[in-house]
Amino acid sequence: MNLIIMGAPGAGKGTQSEMISAREKIPAISTGQILREAMKAGTELGAVAKSYVERGDLVPDEIVIGIVRDYLMSEECKNGFILDGFPRSTAQAEALEKMGVKIDAVLSIEVDDERIIRRMGGRRVCECGASYHTDYLPPKVDGICDKCGKSLYVRADDKPETVRNRLVNYHNQTEPVLNFYRERGLLVTVVGQEKVEDTTECVRKALASVGK
Ligand code: ADP
Ligand code: ZN
Repeated sequence: MNLIIMGAPGAGKGTQSEMISAREKIPAISTGQILREAMKAGTELGAVAKSYVERGDLVPDEIVIGIVRDYLMSEECKNGFILDGFPRSTAQAEALEKMGVKIDAVLSIEVDDERIIRRMGGRRVCECGASYHTDYLPPKVDGICDKCGKSLYVRADDKPETVRNRLVNYHNQTEPVLNFYRERGLLVTVVGQEKVEDTTECVRKALASVGK
């Protein structure tokens, strides 16, 4: 299955793509996670990405398109993949289409802005890619990742003013991508629920409804 997961920042894309990845045994590719790893490692890519990510702006299209192309062409993706956080602009969606990779479905998790802002304050992440929420998805041991045991932290771009900018960019640059896929008959929408397991169930049903 070749799947794209979309949704505003904090809508739960990452959490749902990790779950589908584990269930379907296909890799989840998060462009945000790749950029954060590059920033942490201090690579050339990380240095370029840093200023954009920290402001809550999109990293230039040509950079992320290059990253995704390399991944999709790799052996790892030959039995399917989940794209989390890409495409985020119409130019990225067009570039993906030109790569000739068939997309089976595009799942959009819808959560309104007010709820997003409320949620972001409780988000905690781990450098392994896992994410938690102090109220909605707490780790078993406070502040510690269930999966790898490392300490959880608050993402630098989860500050309220940066979250607002990410939301503005989502509405302006990313929402048009939903239409792009709606026109191609690939869009499936799900309303993000308060509880993670409820969203997971909605996602499972939505994918089943399109035969995935
Ligand atoms: P969220 O969806 O919660 O904003 P992500 O981890 O998906 O978090 O993305 C974090 C940041 O990484 C974005 O705000 C943006 O700066 C950058 N980024 C991630 N994916 C893309 C992309 N496809 N195009 C441009 N920038 C991206
Ligand atoms: Zn971890």
